[in-house]
Amino acid sequence: MITNEHVTKVYKMGEVDLTVIKDLNLSIGHGEFVAIVGPSGSGKSTVLNLLGCLDKPTEGKIVIDETDVTQLDTTALANFRGENIGFIFQSFNLIPVLSVYENIEYPLIMIQNLPQEERHERIMKLLDDVDMLDQKDKFPDQLSGGQRQRVAIARALVTNPKIVFADEPTANLDTKTSNQIITLMRNIQQEFNTTFIFATHDEKIVTEADRIITIVDGVITDDKRIAS
Ligand code: ADP
Ligand code: MG
Repeated sequence: MITNEHVTKVYKMGEVDLTVIKDLNLSIGHGEFVAIVGPSGSGKSTVLNLLGCLDKPTEGKIVIDETDVTQLDTTALANFRGENIGFIFQSFNLIPVLSVYENIEYPLIMIQNLPQEERHERIMKLLDDVDMLDQKDKFPDQLSGGQRQRVAIARALVTNPKIVFADEPTANLDTKTSNQIITLMRNIQQEFNTTFIFATHDEKIVTEADRIITIVDGVITDDKRIAS
């Protein structure tokens, strides 16, 4: 469902061109639970941002469910992202002035044709799924790290995305909380066949993954599928 061909990303650093991703060729199917691993600075976040349509490649083609996203203009790309993709970040990135409920509701602003009642039901179901129903009126600074990440997961899922990208989602969490968050994402993947693509150092995520892709210096050096 996601394929990319000859994807290259070059950052211009003043006079110098820094090639961060080199000729990436990758195909990821529906419902895969994929861990992208590799040393810090190897290009994991860049790959997530490219595949997640937050950034555009310098060269190459990225196709997501028959849409060549590299051909879309900025507005069309934002719409495509809003309808198909969810993002979870290491630092949670919740909006501090919005309540838990409002943070989860936020991505739905992009979706015009969803009746109010259905919005509400969807948010309440997700609050329940991530076990945050009783915290719905609190604000991010009143929550623990694990609670914030659970809100961020609900926010990533509220649009029913086909693909969720998670960039080091457990890096700021203790082991027990990390394990709960990973179990939660695994359950969601199994229930909805959502594709999860992680950039991670977390051994627990790597152990849970169906597939482990290793990137070193912007090049895939290993891609192995784990028999379940
Ligand atoms: P990882 O997530 O594996 O730690 P990144 O994808 O964040 O790696 O970064 C890969 C390389 O690209 C690093 O050398 C980093 O310094 C560089 N880089 C990332 N973002 C930018 C940017 N916006 N401008 C210039 N260089 C960048
Ligand atoms: Mg990174």
